[in-house]
Amino acid sequence: MPIELTNLAALSKAELQRLTARWGWSRYRTAQVWEWLYRRRAVSFESMTNLSVQMRTELAQRACIRWPVAVERRIAADGTRKLLIGLEDGRRIESVLIPDDRRLTLCLSTQVGCTLDCGFCLTGTMGLTRNLKAYEIVGQWVVAQQELDERPEGLPRRLTNLVFMGMGEPLANLPALTDALTRLTDPHGVAFPPRRITVSTAGLAPQIAELGRFQPAVNLAVSLNATDDATRAKIMPLAARYSIEELMAACRAYPLGPRRFITFEYVLLDRVNDSDDDARRLVRLLRGMRAKVNLIPWNPYPGTPFRRPADERIARFQTILLDARVPTYIRKSKGQEILAACGQLHSAEGEKTPQSVQPLHPAWS
Ligand code: SAH
Repeated sequence: MPIELTNLAALSKAELQRLTARWGWSRYRTAQVWEWLYRRRAVSFESMTNLSVQMRTELAQRACIRWPVAVERRIAADGTRKLLIGLEDGRRIESVLIPDDRRLTLCLSTQVGCTLDCGFCLTGTMGLTRNLKAYEIVGQWVVAQQELDERPEGLPRRLTNLVFMGMGEPLANLPALTDALTRLTDPHGVAFPPRRITVSTAGLAPQIAELGRFQPAVNLAVSLNATDDATRAKIMPLAARYSIEELMAACRAYPLGPRRFITFEYVLLDRVNDSDDDARRLVRLLRGMRAKVNLIPWNPYPGTPFRRPADERIARFQTILLDARVPTYIRKSKGQEILAACGQLHSAEGEKTPQSVQPLHPAWS
């Protein structure tokens, strides 16, 4: 009977150490494998040339390296690339590469679908299929790097930022999220600078406190989207089980390093949350906080009653905040025509990958 191969990509560092300890390997050797996996992104054991031939053979007999695979890509005119990623059980998720001048941001998903069902968000209409595992979160970084290995035209060479703003609610999948963050920031592995990582939440107050205890500290973004509980409950029914007061208390308690801010995202919906009074209430809510605001004019998709406010309304909302000295940006929505912008990720109901879809890189499948 063939023995089942252990997928090393699916293991945390501690799990890898436990496994190789059973094989009688030294920590030093294990550390070398870890570096191959995350520094050099090896996808085969043959390439691990500083390991003895015997060790490589042993590895190949007992283990494999299987990351999620890119199934399809869509490229928008502004350079934004949406990657459709296939998981081991055939489900699919999306990640988005967003170039902006010299920055290159990768927007990662944390769930297949989403728990929260916010009325204005296309991902919300999918419902939740399942949480992603840590390696499926890290795997999105791997797939993005593989994309960059091909030196695509119009994209900077290196990722500069990671944002957890794709499909799903990161804080509803906190154990996998923190495991992934540990791998992504490990100085002996990916070594992504934690200050360039942002986790966005629809406002799960208790989990914000937990994320605040995570080391190394990452940036927090909160999708506030309304300034009173009633409106919030209408547009974000599940997230609104925590009141704005509780949410803001959790934000105030979030430990911020020097010169760090909390980002508040605010989807602007015509006549729902875009009045002058809303802007003034937002100013009051943020008083005394190190906060900045990202206004996201609603990105359309078919079949909802929502509208994007007129440009003058958006500008007026921003002006009220700026006049109150709240740093406020209007998020340029990138990749709209390929449904890659905020709230437009969907991936065909997280369906299983039809056999007819060829992976972009058959060798990895
Ligand atoms: N669940 C997390 C992570 C997703 S981030 C969170 O809510 O923060 C996705 C961001 O896009 C959120 O700020 C959300 O409010 C916003 N968004 C969702 N649908 C949108 C749409 N159709 N247009 C613009 N922004 C949208």
